[in-house]
Amino acid sequence: MTDFPSPSGRSKTAKSPAFALFRPVLFAIGAIGLALGGLVLTHRSNPEIAALPTAPPQAAPPAPSPPVASPPVVLADPEPAPPVSSAELKGFQMKPADQIAEPEPPASDRYELTLRLERGDTIEKMLADIDVPEADRKQIAEKLQGLLKKKKLAIGETIELLMQTLPDQPDAPRVLTLSVRPQPEREFIISRQDDGTYAAEEKIYKVSPRIVRVEGERSGSLEQSGMRAGAPSPAMTEFVRALSYDVDFQRELKQGQKFTVLLEQLVTSDGRVTHPGRLLAGELRLLKRTVTVIRFRPQGGAEGFYSAQGESVVRSFLRTPMDASKITSHFGMREHPILGFSALHAGVDFAAPPGTPILAAGTGKVVMAGPNGGYGNYVKLQHTSDVATAYAHMSRVGPGIKPGVSVRQGQVIGFVGTTGLSTGPHLHYEFIRGGRQVNPLAQKFAMRAAVGGKDAARFQGLARQYLTQMKSAPVVANAKPTKPKEPAAPQIAKGD
Ligand SMILES: [Zn+2]
Repeated sequence: MTDFPSPSGRSKTAKSPAFALFRPVLFAIGAIGLALGGLVLTHRSNPEIAALPTAPPQAAPPAPSPPVASPPVVLADPEPAPPVSSAELKGFQMKPADQIAEPEPPASDRYELTLRLERGDTIEKMLADIDVPEADRKQIAEKLQGLLKKKKLAIGETIELLMQTLPDQPDAPRVLTLSVRPQPEREFIISRQDDGTYAAEEKIYKVSPRIVRVEGERSGSLEQSGMRAGAPSPAMTEFVRALSYDVDFQRELKQGQKFTVLLEQLVTSDGRVTHPGRLLAGELRLLKRTVTVIRFRPQGGAEGFYSAQGESVVRSFLRTPMDASKITSHFGMREHPILGFSALHAGVDFAAPPGTPILAAGTGKVVMAGPNGGYGNYVKLQHTSDVATAYAHMSRVGPGIKPGVSVRQGQVIGFVGTTGLSTGPHLHYEFIRGGRQVNPLAQKFAMRAAVGGKDAARFQGLARQYLTQMKSAPVVANAKPTKPKEPAAPQIAKGD
């Protein structure tokens, strides 16, 4: 995708009107785009929430079929999305460079959000950071406290949120459900009722675990490939997220690469699978390396994913700052320039369907948000006095993202689009160190923690066991073979 190449000697953050003069000159030809509309989107509903007797997400007012957000429909047995056919990748047309408008995605979006509880954090503070209205966050925090009684959530605990933004209140997102699972057999769920109040529920799992493995080959997105092979969507989402800190999903992944995930299913005494499989470990074979992630809970700490060597996968910056589960195809540089960092292109590009959530690569403050010449809709984050990141060509900026506000790593700061000098939906991502764009792929990012002390022996034992089981555990029976579906109508990207 052609996007705005860095004119030599000129700052890419230029805002002056002279900037616009470059546009016709720099408008180069390149046409692609991903035509993966809402029909191809992976289904990501949570089967646990599906079992909720009170106010499941679908009880909320119906959204006008958002193209991107997870479908609100709750299914116990998620059906994998169809594979991406080559037909869907055709059908792109050119448009003049100055025509930057594109259809507004519907503002009433549902989307999933995963946040981690940081040191000194509270649920209320976390919800305030993502602009949940005060009355709602007070209620949610209170309800959750009621469930937790005197117990505290561990630092690093994962909070799963199903969010919704309404057209008339784009900056005040609603929490439809909040769920946290401090123990495998215990889940706390707070869900929004029709009348706008919140209900609390504790779910106890009286079941026994069974370890199975799923093996697959990447074809389309990694998440879809895993689901086709029989892995549940939430486990694949977790796998993709755990990899996103380290793996560049655009440049390192190729079709046909093999992966294995090890799952812990929960099975009742009469053999009913009550949980399709929680990710215990996973392995992805890239071109030059194999990336392994292993779930582990250090003593007194929160559960997280670690490398086989016991290093936390969590880094100070995400290598792939977007919902990587939506990245479906690798584009060769010659045919479709999904550009990497070079003298003429001071960032890296990630192609993804329009509306794919773009995530803050690291924790920081918004310094710019809005239209910015050839960059289109643009967000710049300052992380330290020295390091900033920038995100361009968004269809729109995320809810509540404006200069001065703080963002968390992994927070949605915008949605993939093709505004500005862009030939199709993609994210142009820049990593800025000391005021200059540097190659984000060449940066070494600090890791958060490593397994140590008393945990080391237990981790090593577990890692060995999982690595063996990834080769020997029973292969999951794929309950639902992929049915060929009506191919999705190719979406014409109006990129220039
Ligand atoms: Zn670019």
